[in-house]
Amino acid sequence: MSDEVLLRMKGTPVLVSACLLGVRCRYDGRHNLCPDLTSALASVHIIPFCPEQLGGLPTPRPPASIIHGDGSDVLDGAGQVVDAEGRAFTGAFRKGAYEALRLARMLGASLAIVKDRSPSCGIITPYCENEKGSGPGVTAALFGREGIGLLEQGRGIPFSLDGFLNLLGEGPSRSHP
Ligand code: SF4
Repeated sequence: MSDEVLLRMKGTPVLVSACLLGVRCRYDGRHNLCPDLTSALASVHIIPFCPEQLGGLPTPRPPASIIHGDGSDVLDGAGQVVDAEGRAFTGAFRKGAYEALRLARMLGASLAIVKDRSPSCGIITPYCENEKGSGPGVTAALFGREGIGLLEQGRGIPFSLDGFLNLLGEGPSRSHP
């Protein structure tokens, strides 16, 4: 069944957080390689993206977190993104999110596999300041609003093909951001 679905998806563009592919774009210059992701999705057209770099931030860069809300609040102008010393990164995070969306639209991608825990890419990141103590990162929030299906993936965790099939509506239950 999964082979059939992946065959039908041949060449389908899917955005993937670049650090999950081994690109050293993390804030500390390291990566979050997910070793079996590329082989599991060999038939789809993987498009690496890093919204923090797309927003113009250097690598390495200071780690940042969201204050006064989550990524959705940042998009609405209420939340901010700051580093440990309070320096503002809000503009770069917003720019990176919109550049990533532009990339998705340009290449016709309606699915994205994103790195967990990131204040940009995470679907439920702990780097938020709200009642729940977690929420979407800035890019994940924008993608969710714009109808891009999201699957969260952690560093070094085996890639869940079932989760991907669920995202496509081909599994036992569909997942939403
Ligand atoms: S989690 Fe997202 S923003 Fe952070 S390094 Fe990976 S791709 Fe870039």
